[in-house]
Amino acid sequence: MPKILIVGAGLSGLSTAYALRNSNVSVEMLEARPRSGGRILTKNLNSKHLELGATWFGPQHTSLLKLVRELDIPYKTQDNGREAIYDFRPKGNLERFQIPGQAGSSTYKFETGSSSLIEALKQQSSVPIHYNEVVKSVKFDQGFEIRTVDREFKADYLVMSIPPQLITDSIRFEPGLSEFSNALLSKTHTWMSDSIKFSVAFDSAFWKKDGFIGTLMSPQQIIQEMYDHSDVSKAQHALVGFLNSNYSKLKEAERKQRVLKQLATVFLSDDVQTQAYADINWREEKFTIHEKAVLLVPHQNNGNPGLREGFFNNRLFFSASETAAQTPGYMDGAVHRGLEVGEWLLKNLT
Ligand SMILES: Cc1cc2nc3c(=O)[nH]c(=O)nc-3n(C[C@H](O)[C@H](O)[C@H](O)COP(=O)(O)OP(=O)(O)OC[C@H]3O[C@@H](n4cnc5c(N)ncnc54)[C@H](O)[C@@H]3O)c2cc1C
Repeated sequence: MPKILIVGAGLSGLSTAYALRNSNVSVEMLEARPRSGGRILTKNLNSKHLELGATWFGPQHTSLLKLVRELDIPYKTQDNGREAIYDFRPKGNLERFQIPGQAGSSTYKFETGSSSLIEALKQQSSVPIHYNEVVKSVKFDQGFEIRTVDREFKADYLVMSIPPQLITDSIRFEPGLSEFSNALLSKTHTWMSDSIKFSVAFDSAFWKKDGFIGTLMSPQQIIQEMYDHSDVSKAQHALVGFLNSNYSKLKEAERKQRVLKQLATVFLSDDVQTQAYADINWREEKFTIHEKAVLLVPHQNNGNPGLREGFFNNRLFFSASETAAQTPGYMDGAVHRGLEVGEWLLKNLT
C-alpha cells in the first residue's frame, strides 16, 4: 500500500487528507505547531471566540462553499452596517460615511469561528497527525526520507502543504530543486503574513448606535480596519480587525491598551469593559514566514502554474493556498488545491 505523507495540517493539507478519506492508501500528516489550522485560528478565551486568522469568504469562493455545505458547517452573512467611521486623527477628524449597499456582493463568516472547518475536516478524514514535527530536510531516492528535528519518516509520495516561500527558506532537498523552482518558491508571497489581526469582546456593544455597527477605518491610528464580530444570538459582543504594522514591536498587552484607548475616544465611552482580547503579529509566526524572508509584493507569483508541477516524477507536490489555480492565497485556494492534489493521488494510486 503506497504511503503518503502530508506536511502541514493547515486547510490545504487537511483538504488533501479529506479527499483521500475513503481510499486504500496510507496517509499521515506532520505538523510543526502543537495545533492544526495554520493561518486559521479561532482562539476561545473566556467563552468568546476570537478570530485571529482567516475570517471572511464570498459566493465566488466556490470550492470552499461546496466543502462547507458538504460538511454542513454553519455560516452567516457579515453585516457591516449602513455607515462606517473614518478616523483621520491626528491629521483630520472623525467622519462618518455611507457604506454602499452589499447587493450581490455578500461576505460570509463561520458562525462559530473559522476553526470549525478545520475541526470538521480532521474529524471526517481521521488521519493521524504528528504534532511538533518541524520538517528540516527531504531526501528522495526510490522513496522519501523526511527528517524533522529528531525523527525520520518515510513515504512514497509527499505533499508539501506549507507556504512556498517557507519551503525554500527552511527545508533542504536532496537532490536539490532546480534553480527556477527555488527562485519561484522564494518569490511567492505568503498572503497576510505581514498583518497583525486583533479581536476583542466586551460585556456590551457600546459602539452600536445610529446605524453604525462597528466598521471603522483609520490610516494613522493603531486600528486600521475594524468590523463587527458579534454573535447573532447576542451572546458575544465583539470586534475584529487589523492593526497598523507600525505597532508590531509592541507587546500584546501594550497593543491592547492602545486599541482600547482608541475605541474609548472614538465612541466617547470611558467605561469599556473587555471580556477577552487577543492579537497575533503573523510576521513573527515562524511556521508561516521565515524571519529572514525577502519582502514581496502582495500576491506576487500566487497561482503561478510552475507551483503546481509534480516533482521527482510526480512523487512530490506543493499544495498551499498560494499554489492554487483558483483564488490563490485565500481559504478557497487552499481547499481548491488541497482537493486537486488529493484527487490526483486518488486517481493515480488506487
Ligand atoms: C491574519 C490573516 C487573515 C486572513 N484572512 C482571510 C480571509 O478573511 N479570507 C480568506 O479566504 N483567507 C484569509 N487568510 C488566508 C488564509 O488563512 C489562507 O489562505 C489559508 O489558511 C492557507 O492555508 P494553507 O493550508 O495553504 O497554509 P497554512 O495555513 O499556512 O498551513 C501551513 C501549515 O504548515 C505548517 N508548517 C510550516 N512549516 C512546517 C514545517 N517545516 N514542518 C511541518 N509543518 C510546517 C504550519 O504550522 C501550518 O499548519 C488570512 C490569513 C491571515 C494570516
